[in-house]
Amino acid sequence: MQECRENAVAIYHSQQANNSAPAKNPPLKKIPRTQLSHGKRFILTCSPSNSIARWWVGIRDSLDTKKNDNYKHEKLWLPLACSPYHEHKLHQGKTQALEVLYYPKKKEWWVHFILLHVPDKYASSRPPAVLGIDLGINKRAVSALLTPKGTINRHEIRFWSDKTRKKLQKEKERKIAKSQKILAKPSLSVSKRDSLLYQLKSLRKRQRTEHKLTDHTYVNRLVKYILSVGKRYDLYVVVGFPLHIRKSHFRGNLHPYSRKKVHKWNYRKVVELLKFKLSLHGWEEYRILSIGESGTSSCCSRCGSYHTARPNQPTFICHTCGYNLNADLNGAKNIAKRLIKYVLQPKYSSIKDQVSGKFFPLSSFRVFPVLSQWLRTKQSHLLTPGAGVRA
Ligand SMILES: [Zn+2]
Repeated sequence: MQECRENAVAIYHSQQANNSAPAKNPPLKKIPRTQLSHGKRFILTCSPSNSIARWWVGIRDSLDTKKNDNYKHEKLWLPLACSPYHEHKLHQGKTQALEVLYYPKKKEWWVHFILLHVPDKYASSRPPAVLGIDLGINKRAVSALLTPKGTINRHEIRFWSDKTRKKLQKEKERKIAKSQKILAKPSLSVSKRDSLLYQLKSLRKRQRTEHKLTDHTYVNRLVKYILSVGKRYDLYVVVGFPLHIRKSHFRGNLHPYSRKKVHKWNYRKVVELLKFKLSLHGWEEYRILSIGESGTSSCCSRCGSYHTARPNQPTFICHTCGYNLNADLNGAKNIAKRLIKYVLQPKYSSIKDQVSGKFFPLSSFRVFPVLSQWLRTKQSHLLTPGAGVRA
């Protein structure tokens, strides 16, 4: 195929040299992507006994030959160098289409498959549950699961920390600060300055890739947990979104140390990644919502009182009922309850997702009548006016 293409380009160039007139349609620099549909234009087969390759793809010749009223098509058989990851992906769905690409920089040929994967639909027989997630800076997230049983036991609470990211971040920041300090000196030769600037650029690039990788591994862990819970319950995930947190951390308002931390915090990216990764598993958009979390950290998750205190960052004490627990966990429980409150005591006919800005009608949360029964008996404070989570 490549030979054919090169021949065509050579013919075109020679013709152009003879005519010396400007060409109307210059040749394409890249090979155009052509999708071939499965069954008609290509066949994917697995032959474990073959010594050359396990997976083969047979592409039909585009030239149709007609002999004795019979169409005969030649096939081009290409061996595929499949990794175990690709093999696993091929088994997951049904192959729909394929495209053959050439990467000139790598000097490699690649075959892209388009798979159709239909996930299982949710069974309505499962009990409903709400998973509240409170995003944090030091602890990256805290999750609490609210089920119709009402009791939150130890197995339904998770603290998500990311120690590797913290360590890597500190190391890189120290190196960057060191080179920046040298750069600030006025008596510095031009060559030294250039080399230092180059060093700084590469350091920042490495820092960015590290952040990207650690973000993905952390969100993957979260997705794995959510999927495992989703098998047992008809699950709704609510993520507390710190709206306008950067606006309140302006210069002169709060401590510079905390301001630095807040402005580095990539909460939106985490929520977007979580939404995207769950959508790959067939989760509907309204099943993972992000709602404003203002007021959730200062409200008691047991009695709904605002007469509370936080003697230090991790501890939370309620002066009304004497409840004592982790502050982030209290926030996560309140976030889960806020969604239930929004559905049971609606102010508006829809709920807004803070990240995407979309509105979801209350009718999409159809399992909530079951949850409301439990709330009436055990969490009655949520339904009494004046108390409970502030909307
Ligand atoms: Zn309380």
